[in-house]
Amino acid sequence: MISRSLLRHASRLFLVTGLAGLPLAVYELYLGLGRGYYLLQADGYHALFDSLLAVLYAVLLKVAYRRSRSFPWGLYNAEGIVTILVSIFVVYLVASAFADSLAGPQVMPSWTSWILWASAALSASVAIAEVRYMRLLIVKSDLMHASVDTALDLVAGGVISTAYFSLTPVVLGAMMLVVLYNAAESSWTSLQSLLGAEVFGTGLREAIGRGIAAMGLRPLRIYVARAGSFYLVQAIIALPPETTLARAYRIKKRVSRLIASFDGVAIADVRVVPSSELRQQGARARRTASYL
Ligand SMILES: [Zn+2]
Repeated sequence: MISRSLLRHASRLFLVTGLAGLPLAVYELYLGLGRGYYLLQADGYHALFDSLLAVLYAVLLKVAYRRSRSFPWGLYNAEGIVTILVSIFVVYLVASAFADSLAGPQVMPSWTSWILWASAALSASVAIAEVRYMRLLIVKSDLMHASVDTALDLVAGGVISTAYFSLTPVVLGAMMLVVLYNAAESSWTSLQSLLGAEVFGTGLREAIGRGIAAMGLRPLRIYVARAGSFYLVQAIIALPPETTLARAYRIKKRVSRLIASFDGVAIADVRVVPSSELRQQGARARRTASYL
């Protein structure tokens, strides 16, 4: 089962943080473009992009798990695609900041460091608020992004206020390694989701198998894959060949309901196949089927 309230709350959080970041972004761009403070200009563009992205996330969480006539399985893959794009963007961001830091110091009045620290405080609040919704892939990758933003703005503000330029490349280089690792990890998870790779080690397959067996049925195969932050489960059930269509339909429906009741399952797909092996145990199977 998908928690609708989790999606609703996470969506609202993205909308609030996106709108909260806009005024600071505009102020940074006003100073950056108006007075030629390159660092503020870059941070302003970045903050503007982040705000728009957060609003996009808010919309995405509202629509990604909704099914429609054109998208009967929902838009789960939208989450994976956005996660990969954001990972690439964050890597680019840190790499370009690192490259800039190698080019040499920038002269800016020391009071502008407070603008960057305000921006850092905003990013830190976003990261802290997001911890509660980390179960969603999209939130997990954005939390990394917000943490990187916080660190980058803290360092940038510190560099301006102390004029301690020589340390910047070292700090940014270390940051780049951490980001690369995290981005690769979340992109890999998203890619597996997009390609429908089987997921192991969640305990979901075993729990569902036990549930189906407890109903007196024999699962031939239970397949678990990711659907965005959630799971897609396909179960294949063996039934005696003489089972009527009406009975098979009832069994399918009951098993679907059982699978969908597990936490995190977004799609339950149940298939029944005739198994002649079960014909020998016909009497027992018929008892089971009529029990259902
Ligand atoms: Zn950012």
